[in-house]
Amino acid sequence: MTYNQADLILYNARVITLDPNNPMAELVAVKAGKILATGKNSDISSFSGLRTKLVDCRKMTIIPGFNDAHCHPIGQAITLLHIDCSSSSVKSIADIKKRIRKQAQETPAGKWLRAAQYNEFDLAEKRHPTRWELDEAAPDHPVILIHYSAGICVLNSMALRLIGINRDPVSSEPDGIFFGKNEQVQKGVPPVSDEELEHGIKLASRQYLSFGITSLQDTGWNNNMIHWQTYQKFKSREGLLPNRISMLIGCDAMQNIIDNGLFMAYGDNQLRIGGVKLALDEKTGNIHPPQEDINRQALLAHRAGFQIAFHVHDQHNLRASLTALELILRHIPKPLHRHRLEHCMICSPDEIALMKRTLPLVVTQPAFLHFGGKNFMETIPSDKLNYLFPAGSLGRSGLQVAFSSDSPMNTCNPLLGIYTAVTRKETDGKTLAPEERISPIDALRMYTLGGAYASYEENIKGTITPGKLADLTVLNKDPNLVDMEEIKEITVMMTVIDGKIVWEK
Ligand SMILES: [Zn+2]
Repeated sequence: MTYNQADLILYNARVITLDPNNPMAELVAVKAGKILATGKNSDISSFSGLRTKLVDCRKMTIIPGFNDAHCHPIGQAITLLHIDCSSSSVKSIADIKKRIRKQAQETPAGKWLRAAQYNEFDLAEKRHPTRWELDEAAPDHPVILIHYSAGICVLNSMALRLIGINRDPVSSEPDGIFFGKNEQVQKGVPPVSDEELEHGIKLASRQYLSFGITSLQDTGWNNNMIHWQTYQKFKSREGLLPNRISMLIGCDAMQNIIDNGLFMAYGDNQLRIGGVKLALDEKTGNIHPPQEDINRQALLAHRAGFQIAFHVHDQHNLRASLTALELILRHIPKPLHRHRLEHCMICSPDEIALMKRTLPLVVTQPAFLHFGGKNFMETIPSDKLNYLFPAGSLGRSGLQVAFSSDSPMNTCNPLLGIYTAVTRKETDGKTLAPEERISPIDALRMYTLGGAYASYEENIKGTITPGKLADLTVLNKDPNLVDMEEIKEITVMMTVIDGKIVWEK
């Protein structure tokens, strides 16, 4: 029966399909980029032929490919072009200097050096580096060092001189540290070139694939036609960016997108328009944009048929978004609207009750609780600590939840997100609100099917079901079977997109 002949069969595996009709299997057969069948090892002869590639998974676990429902792939690409000064790579200012010095030795004098991701709290000195320290590392190169939050940066002397920030050298030299987005700095530092960006996207794509992420939802608040064309260009380069992209657009760009003939879900399963990101505060710098502005923008997007992703970074924004949501649904009812709330870092039981009136879906980032836990415990009032990233309560209340990373703001490793959702542990091992823990299988679902639902694609991805796209991730262990602590050590062994092996360990 050659018409059933698969292109690829992954067998001898624990296949977690997340399909309630057929939850477990031993093999997955793939044909023409789609799931042909799941079954037992003994079914192998029914689907294999002369041209079938057979992969023995040696009892490893297969899950649907991860879907990162909120991330910034171009930001990730640019970050990967920078010298890595993240807390996992550097422990002190001396370490930062060593890394910059090494890069300086490999770079022609006068060329910009870019470093990023440092966190002063994790440095032995507990402070920001200064221009003079960067000078010691690279006296002959302009250097910019960007904080992990992207809101603070440090420049060395040559960089300051080049962008024209030059004060009296003796009495009032700035230490080179800039807080907040400084216009002169932003204008003065040359952007990465097209070739550099293409190289960065290759690195970013490989990193996402190495973590088993097959679908990316780019939630940039300033995404526009240019970003769309950039993705089109990347997608046209064979093998450069195999991950599927759903690109949300900024609300300012919506009219232009419409004028160019694009609309909600325009495109195909490789690259599509994913909705409108509503982040008025990022644009204006005003933490609490007026309610009328939120309502007006939301209504425009809703009326034009776009899914809305409200940027919700605090409880005030959460309530304002819910008010807008009620208003637009009253104007133009749409029962399965799937408007989204991004982040929802703090979310109280009262707010969850409010959410049940309009049923938005929540796209959140559990790994922030792990890496930010210590900081939260110091900065968030104790009565609110239990409301942080409450995946358990959200799930129990019947709201749809999708998991994501917000990379480059945080690691894109989904298993760290799943580990955090399951354990609620911060980096020192302290547990925050254990009642918000969820099971590994629920966490897996939120990182796969949850994302597919958030982009209206649950009929083509998110479970291992015959007929769906063959996007698969092979893990060395089953998160449901290992000790909770071990989930964060689980590694991705293979990533399959469209039935093709695009990454292997
Ligand atoms: Zn984001």
